[in-house]
This record gives sequence, structure tokens and C-alpha cells, in this order.
Amino acid sequence: MFYNSTRNNSVKVTSAEAIIQGISFEGGLFVPDSIPKLTADDIKKIGDMKYADRAFYIFSKYLTDFSETEIHYCTDNAYSTKNFDTENIAELVKLFDGAYMLELWHGPTCAFKDMALQILPYFLTTSVKKTKLDKKIVILVATSGDTGKAALEGFKDVEGTSILVFYPQDGVSPMQKRQMKTQEGSNVGVCAIKGNFDDCQNGVKAIFTDSEVKETLSSNGMMFSSANSINWGRLVPQIVYYVSSYAELLKKGEISEGEKINIAVPTGNFGNILAGYYAKHMGVPVNKLICASNINKVLTDFINTGVYDRNREFYTTVSPSMDILISSNLERLLYLLTDKNDSLIREWFGKLSTEGRYEVSESVKEKLSEEFWAGFCDDTETKKTIHDIYEKYSYTCDTHTAVAVKVYGDYVAQTGDRTKTVIASTASPYKFSDTVLEAIEGGETVADEYGKVDRIAKLSGIPVPTSLSELKDKPERFSDSIDKSEQKEYVLGKLGI
Ligand SMILES: *Cc1c(COP(=O)(O)O)cnc(C)c1O
Repeated sequence: MFYNSTRNNSVKVTSAEAIIQGISFEGGLFVPDSIPKLTADDIKKIGDMKYADRAFYIFSKYLTDFSETEIHYCTDNAYSTKNFDTENIAELVKLFDGAYMLELWHGPTCAFKDMALQILPYFLTTSVKKTKLDKKIVILVATSGDTGKAALEGFKDVEGTSILVFYPQDGVSPMQKRQMKTQEGSNVGVCAIKGNFDDCQNGVKAIFTDSEVKETLSSNGMMFSSANSINWGRLVPQIVYYVSSYAELLKKGEISEGEKINIAVPTGNFGNILAGYYAKHMGVPVNKLICASNINKVLTDFINTGVYDRNREFYTTVSPSMDILISSNLERLLYLLTDKNDSLIREWFGKLSTEGRYEVSESVKEKLSEEFWAGFCDDTETKKTIHDIYEKYSYTCDTHTAVAVKVYGDYVAQTGDRTKTVIASTASPYKFSDTVLEAIEGGETVADEYGKVDRIAKLSGIPVPTSLSELKDKPERFSDSIDKSEQKEYVLGKLGI
């Protein structure tokens, strides 16, 4: 299998090259040249495997330039109880009849980003070895809160790499900030940007595609790569848990062979839900992909009208990891929905960068509404949902997951569709303890962050993740804060070049 660029069809690279480069030289994203298929028998077989082997099975279809030994090295190291607090790696919990929470936050940083970022460093270092590249890999990350920490944990002290993370100064939760500022490791750096996530992401993308910067790096024996979900190495591990959850439901007898499910995903950069789309087109029986946004509802509007318009107010919300107005991975979806029309993608994404807006063709609009259903949920509704499902089902969920639960409820109310649904639960409630406690108990009950952690433990019965309780005693190592215009100089300065 080879990978093409969404902005230039004639680009053709192996998966190792796609993972190393992160983004194609003309700014496009790498997409596999076909979607491998799973039969009903394959899916049944997957149900009998442990998570690392399920991942191996899927990866062997996408990373065809990797040997079996290489893939096993990656999956066995990433998906073990060394890194995850449950044997199953991803837990599937029945919320009520017909609705299942796919808990993707049992990794070291308590958010779903770990599902991919625990394995990406193994993919990347293996790719570097395979391609006999003699360069140090510099990872630049823009984060809305969870990716940064997950990437730092994944890459800390990984030989031949260094990592630099940018986060929006006032756009992450107190726990997220503390997680990043206290990061350990000799090859890590963290810096706040006086701006929002889009500023961080645009800055990183601009540095990546700056040919002068690239040359400077190259002549110093370094090269950039990306740990953001623009990297295919982030996307492919996310496909695994959708296939895995279907196989699991089948195995448990919750669904019958061939029965369709819906998948509801709290969405920001469109990476997680796009993985659901890939799982569907590999052969997992999926009816609708339900795209849930917070009040930054650029995706809801896009899916419902075919017009993508980022010219709107940006809000900071209680679900900060979804506070995004430019959803990068949508580019991959549109490439697929236009039957790989790279010139249309260039046109639309050119317009997005010059005018902040584009409108897709009628045929794409039709396909969007066939595959997706989209809704949004504001902060008041998010908190009410956390409260309601706690009261009704004694289940404590985080703010992002609550957005998906609410939008799923709206979907059922509007369509009457009772298809069984997997809801992606993307973060531990401990990461957003402020809002979760306010929602469940009302008012400001406990003052300090760790008092809140104890309170959540009492209410939820979920053991406190040691990675979070440990933070209390860790010293802050990183306090830099810069203007977005200073990002490039900052990066070069940190690299000492
Ligand atoms: C990143 C993140 C999201 C959004 O996922 P995308 O793949 O960017 O759409 C949702 N919830 C949480 C907790 C996240 O960290």
C-alpha cells in the first residue's frame, strides 16, 4: 500500500515515509491509496484477540512496508498494562440499553490521545530505522490540551527525537496545564502561546512547510515530524478501537452478525470521527457517524449546509479540546468524498486560507448527509448532561464525552433511530474536575484541584489515576509564554540553530 497527498495525487510514499514526514511537502495530508477490507469472519476473529493483536491485525493491512516483527514490536510495547490501567486497553461500558461508552482514556494521560500517542513513537523510530534516515526527529505539536501531554509522555526520552509543544495560554484546563508544565524528560519542551488553538496549529503548520527552516534543520542533521492528527501514524491506531468495539459487542452478544451500529464522537480536529469513517469503509457495519461539537460548531454547520466558514467568533468552553475552528482531518474526508480530486481540494483549502470559507459540491453534500449526522451542545447543556447521566445511570463522564451524549440524544429525538450506538468517551472526568463537580453537585464545593480529585473519586468510584495524583508533588519545569509571531524564532532558538 502507498500513500498519496490530498493536494497532489502523484505524490506516492510508503507508510514509513508518510509517518516520518507527517505532512506532504505541498501542505496536503497523506491518505492510503485504498481502504483495506474486513470480512464478517475477520471481525469475528478479531473479537477473540487481545487488544494488541487486534491492533496488529489492522496495522498489517495499512503498514504493508513494515515487517510482522516490526509491527509486533510497536503493538506489544504500546498496548500493555505497563501503560494502560486496564487489560482491555479500551473499555466498553453499557450506559443504557442500546448505548455503550467506549472509554478511551485508560492510558497514562487520561485522554483518548494516548490510544495513538503511545504507539506513534514506536512507529516513528521504526520508520526512521527502516528508511535508514540518519536524522534526529524534531516533533512539533500544537495542542488544545490533551495531545500535548499525550505526545510528551509518548516521546519523553525516546532516543533520536526531541519534542516541543505549544498550547493556547488560556485555552486549557488547570489539570491539563499542570500536566504539561511538570513534564519530565530530557528531550521535551513546552511553551504557551498568547492566542487560541488555531493560532498554535497555524504556527506549527507554517513552520513545517517553511523551506528555509527545513533546510536549516537538515544542515544540522535534524528534520521535523508531527504528532498531531495530521500524521497518518495518529489516525491508523484510532481505526483499531472502532473495529475492536464492534467485535466486542458481537462477541458479548449485544449485537448480531452484520447488525449496524451508530458511532457518536465528540469532535474537534475531525481525527477521531474520521477513524470511525475508515472503520466503516473497511467493513464494520455502521449506519450513521454522529458528529458532536460544542458551541464552536463549525463542523455541525458544515455537515448540515456544505459551507465551511471559519469567519465566526471563537469561544472558550468547558470542553477545550474541541475548541477548534479549523478541523484539519476534514481534508482527508473531502478527498475521499470527491473520489480523490486533488485539484478540488487545493481549490477549497486555498479558499479556506485566503477567505476562511469554502462551499463543497452538491454530490459531496449528499454524501455528507448519507454518512454523517451533526449536532452541537453549549456549556449549559453539557453540564446538565453530566448531571443527568450521573443521576440516571450513576456514570460520571467528562465534558467532551457529555457533548457526544447530548448530541446523540438529540439525534434519537429527531430521527427516532434506535440503532445501537457506541459513544466515544474521550477523557477521564478527573481531567475536567472543576466542571464535572460543578455539574454534579452545583456551585463551588471544593477549592483546590486535588480536593476536587478526591471528591470525584468519592462520587464516581473510579480510582484516581496515579499519573494525576503524582502531579501534586512535581515541580513546574516550563513557564515560557510567547506571542504567536515569535513561534518560529522560538523553535529555532530551542533547537540551538
Ligand atoms: C482531542 C479531543 C477531542 C477531539 O478529537 P478530534 O480527533 O480532534 O476530533 C475530543 N475530546 C477530547 C477529550 C480530546 O482530547
